[in-house]
Amino acid sequence: MECDVLVIGCGPAGLSAAGYAARAGYNTLAIDSLAPGGQLLYIDEIENYPGTGKTSGYALAESFEKQAVSFGVRVEFWGAESIRKEGNQFIVKTNDDEVHAKAVIFASGARHRHLGCPGEEEYQGKGVSYCATCDGPFFKGRKIAVVGGGDTALTDALYLSKLGSEVHIIHRRTEFRGQKVLQDRVNEKDNIFLHLGLTVDEIRGDGKGVKSVRLSDGSELAVDAIFIFVGIIPNSELLEGFAELDHGFVITDNHMRTSVPGLFAAGDVRTTPFRQVVTAAGDGAAAAHSADEYIQNL
Ligand code: NAP
Repeated sequence: MECDVLVIGCGPAGLSAAGYAARAGYNTLAIDSLAPGGQLLYIDEIENYPGTGKTSGYALAESFEKQAVSFGVRVEFWGAESIRKEGNQFIVKTNDDEVHAKAVIFASGARHRHLGCPGEEEYQGKGVSYCATCDGPFFKGRKIAVVGGGDTALTDALYLSKLGSEVHIIHRRTEFRGQKVLQDRVNEKDNIFLHLGLTVDEIRGDGKGVKSVRLSDGSELAVDAIFIFVGIIPNSELLEGFAELDHGFVITDNHMRTSVPGLFAAGDVRTTPFRQVVTAAGDGAAAAHSADEYIQNL
């Protein structure tokens, strides 16, 4: 099928981009192999998206989709399998139809790397979290474990130390990968405790929430929540060899332009320092605006 703008990925970035493109008068198709919403679907409660108050990730995802559809976006459950450009036309093969588009907005998101230990999946949303800004405020005055030794683990441990009574950083090596300045700040905090050279073997709970973690030395640490920051994996496999990537993240400029004219990227899949629903939605709007400019100049 033919369209003006093809959006790949229907999380907040993709649905925002699609809505803006359709509202600007473009025939817009948004595809996702999974249900629209992206990582929103894994967020139990969200309270920091401007204007909505406390809501569920699912409800917010639904309203993103409804709004996009109301602007004329066609949403399809199609997975993109390959992408190429012939002249000024993008050709994207999906598991359903072949799509020809003037511009493509790539908003396929990223997935958090998981530990893969027992209890991790069971307690997701019940004390197991991958986002301090999203879930930290639910654990005010409680004991919190943080896993990882990179910048995210250190930055978010510092943030969580302002909320929790104790923060226990568990890192598999005895040296941190994160910046020295962050390590110094962590060391200065009275309520951050380090458990180095250890991994989490199991997350235990009472069925309703996390109660403790069992470490690789056999010890058990009583905590109410565990925040896992062991890196994220961008869903950018489709663009390998097609657009420039940095450790898998799509390189963009401030206008969401990639190395391929007419291909834009938005949200968690692109190189960006802050990954939130609101920043993804903002990226989507900017990408649609840039796609508009690009198509007008074709
Ligand atoms: P990262 O730098 O890849 O660090 C991931 C951490 O998780 C590493 O310490 C790694 O251990 C550990 N890890 C990986 N797999 C694990 C496993 N299976 N079990 C236990 N531990 C595991 O990821 P990130 O911290 O999310 O940072 C991603 C990028 O964003 C980086 O480029 C970072 O500089 C940037 N960032 C910057 C800032 C800032 O500037 N303030 C803030 C956040 C993120 P090892 O060290 O042993 O490999």
